[in-house]
Amino acid sequence: MVKTTVTRTVVVKSEKLPRRLFRVFVELEEVYRSMVEQLVLYAVGSKTTSFTKLKVLKYRELRNTYPQLPSHYAYTACQDACTRAKSFLKLKKRRLTNKEYPEVKDVSIWLDDHLWKLEGLTRIGVATHRGWIHVDIKPHKQFWRYVNSGWRFRSECRVKLNKRERKLILYFVFAKDVEFYQPKGYVTVDVNENSIAVLADGRVYLFETNMEKIVLGYYYRRKRVQEKYDSLYGPGCRTRRRVLRKLNEKGKKNDAKWKIANIVVREAVKHGYAIAMEKLGKRPAENMIKRVKDKQLKHRIYQASFRGVQRAVEEKAKEHGVSVVYVDPRNTSKQCPVHGAIIRYDNNSRIGICSTGGEKWHRDIVACFNLLLKALGGDGSDAPSHPGLELDGSSVPLGSTATHEPIQIPVSVWARWKSLDTKEHKQTKTNIQGQTVI
Ligand SMILES: [Zn+2]
Repeated sequence: MVKTTVTRTVVVKSEKLPRRLFRVFVELEEVYRSMVEQLVLYAVGSKTTSFTKLKVLKYRELRNTYPQLPSHYAYTACQDACTRAKSFLKLKKRRLTNKEYPEVKDVSIWLDDHLWKLEGLTRIGVATHRGWIHVDIKPHKQFWRYVNSGWRFRSECRVKLNKRERKLILYFVFAKDVEFYQPKGYVTVDVNENSIAVLADGRVYLFETNMEKIVLGYYYRRKRVQEKYDSLYGPGCRTRRRVLRKLNEKGKKNDAKWKIANIVVREAVKHGYAIAMEKLGKRPAENMIKRVKDKQLKHRIYQASFRGVQRAVEEKAKEHGVSVVYVDPRNTSKQCPVHGAIIRYDNNSRIGICSTGGEKWHRDIVACFNLLLKALGGDGSDAPSHPGLELDGSSVPLGSTATHEPIQIPVSVWARWKSLDTKEHKQTKTNIQGQTVI
């Protein structure tokens, strides 16, 4: 059985600190920042991206320059600097920056197991140049959920300072070991521009997402903000950063993909299934973004939409021990899953007709069933039983309407769902026009 470790970061604030104690953290942050700055310059200049190498080269020097600091800050600063150098060199390689060196703007102090410890569950100790400092934290519901459901604290932790509130912001990392179960079948997920189709137990659910509108709207808003502030105050000013950060947070909050990922994974767990999705090439977002000229923007839209949905599903799946397989997307919407014949679609219609059996097929239903067939025909190692599609029969084993009428679910309806279990929410019915009647 395959095992993996899943990690999640949980952000917790501290209580307000007395001025005297907070000052120690301000000093610590300053020293830490100058260490990281110095290390990043060196790492980028010498193209050193290995933590071990950087540590060997710089440890003595750091200890001599900052003798008052606990020695392990030399380790964590090296790790921090390596990560920054690596991502900067990557940008540089892809010509996405024309700077010589990265700026160390945002600093969080990295702590390892020698630099912080739990003192109960509402208090931590942090090693500083002034000895151990004890800080009370304010845990929230999510924090307790992790503590109480089999997750354990990882040894690393990061600290940021909120100078206005005189509080620390702590980034705890929780970890959990997960075993992937042997799947008995598959839930398939087909991500489209404006909907996500999910095949679970012989039925296709079509979740409307309006992704095109949301994603494009978001990027154009972002771009407008950038241009406005750049022309007012010059590039990279603080107000611009703040406005963009707010926009970002809003974008994350309203993110439909997590909701759908949850529904899909719940369904897979319920049946003991794995999840099958299309292996995405460079093409899928093309339709959606053909009006967008900017190459970088295109890439980001693509990432944020199609791949983003798949990543969310993958991440949620991992947490619950559900395997995810990717299958070759070729012909998934063109071939009849029953007859193996070509399906003809007239002028951009979502509904086509099988050239052999003459039955009607909805494009997304076809895609979902073909993904299932491909997943089942995979390497055979964990192939579960056949879904029951008779590929050589002349009759259509699926109900005559099931092939061209997915269960369409508008955003306003599924946004309140937790699973596909209809007993859990009001029964929805779909009429012939695909409008949902509740
Ligand atoms: Zn057919």
